[in-house]
Amino acid sequence: MAKTSSNKKEKLSDKLFFKQKNCWESIDVKTEKEVEELASSYKQFLNNGKTERECADYISGVLAKNGFINIDTKTKIKLTPGMKIYQNIRGKSVIAAVIGKKPATEGCNILGAHIDSPRLDLKQNPLYEDSELALFDTHYYGGIKKYQWTTIPLSMHGVFINEAGKKTTIRIGEEPGDPVFTVTDLLPHLAKEQMEKKASVVVEGEDLDILAGSRPYNDKDEKEKVKLLLLDLLNKKYGITEKDFTSAEIEFVPAFKASDVGFDRSLIGSYGHDDRCCAWPALQAIIAIANGKAAPGKTLVCYFSDKEETGSAGNTGARSLNFENFLAMLNSGSEIDLKLCFSHSSMLSADVNAAFDPTYAGVFDKKNSSYIGKGIVLEKYTGSGGKSGASDANAEYVAKVQAILNKNKVQWQCGELGKVDKGGGGTIALYAANLGMDVLDCGVPVLSMHSPFEVISKIDLYMTYKGYVAFLNEA
Ligand code: MN
Ligand code: MN
Repeated sequence: MAKTSSNKKEKLSDKLFFKQKNCWESIDVKTEKEVEELASSYKQFLNNGKTERECADYISGVLAKNGFINIDTKTKIKLTPGMKIYQNIRGKSVIAAVIGKKPATEGCNILGAHIDSPRLDLKQNPLYEDSELALFDTHYYGGIKKYQWTTIPLSMHGVFINEAGKKTTIRIGEEPGDPVFTVTDLLPHLAKEQMEKKASVVVEGEDLDILAGSRPYNDKDEKEKVKLLLLDLLNKKYGITEKDFTSAEIEFVPAFKASDVGFDRSLIGSYGHDDRCCAWPALQAIIAIANGKAAPGKTLVCYFSDKEETGSAGNTGARSLNFENFLAMLNSGSEIDLKLCFSHSSMLSADVNAAFDPTYAGVFDKKNSSYIGKGIVLEKYTGSGGKSGASDANAEYVAKVQAILNKNKVQWQCGELGKVDKGGGGTIALYAANLGMDVLDCGVPVLSMHSPFEVISKIDLYMTYKGYVAFLNEA
């Protein structure tokens, strides 16, 4: 739809007020096609990458296909301008870079997203039989409203490692004809007492047990026949025994696929938008520039981290040294060069923002919320209470990022995580800020965040992609 021109004299309020328009109102046919193409490749990514391991695999595959060299398989590689490299860290996190013409000591342009999402993990000894049903005991991962995870189809993903180190990858419930799994809930007829409970305890963590079978093994002398049949099936198919669960990483996630939402198909509903809706445009942005003719000025880096939803701890999370080690490889090797690289680098912490939801208007400050359809969100600070734990980007840096976006006609909006004292949260921004970099939270607005079916707008995904390209090119 083209913009309609008007001959009216500019009003003073148009000049002085800060107004945010709906992005759909000003896009042309060519842009509309690009929006749809990006949405389509993104939905494929969502359906193929339901866990951090699957995302790391998929991202590595896309990078390799676009000529990025896996530096783990090369020793003593000499980095030259234009060279494209990546590292896959323990199969759960990826860092990619395009070497620039300027030395890394002059700073890198960095996008940092995360590829883990809230889910149900199996406990170490999860399988039990009760009343002739086989069930898996779980430990939830990330911030979830537990009651949302009952009575939906779940799929099983992850790895078993045997004593010889052989890895067996599991993915059940994603292909047509696959069985799925589910967490049961109480029928309303018997839920009088349950319905009186606070929502935080209406379904408790220990009640998120997954229904996995009900048919007994044919042996009258055995006690736990249903559990035995289940293990027999797993053993025949994957060669595993009950003990193998104790070292495994098995994750249960919503089994449904990403879908367009609404009559106008302007939205995408899916599990795992947080933070794959920032990871995917970040990946597409670095690839778009890497495939250009000339090497970029500054070195470009994309970090796809793990463990953000549990606080970025662990050796695949953003608090580990992986990111610093990677940047060290881009520098000459001297300690001072690396520190110069840190303090001269600019980063966008590519993470989602809570979109204003009219149904729950009470928790949002309308003036400072992000809105579906109004573009990429700049979130100057996160944190909770009195900005506790916030990295709070400097005014100079926020203005610089805004100028880059304006120059490249990328529509942006501001966002804050709800009203003051209504809650809060954080991203990986503060860990990069600790290194002395400039860093700003910047990503896609999301409805129903951390639920099994989150919703974003295709136009915001597109604006985020355009914003990341502009930032990598110019920051
Ligand atoms: Mn996130
Ligand atoms: Mn999150």
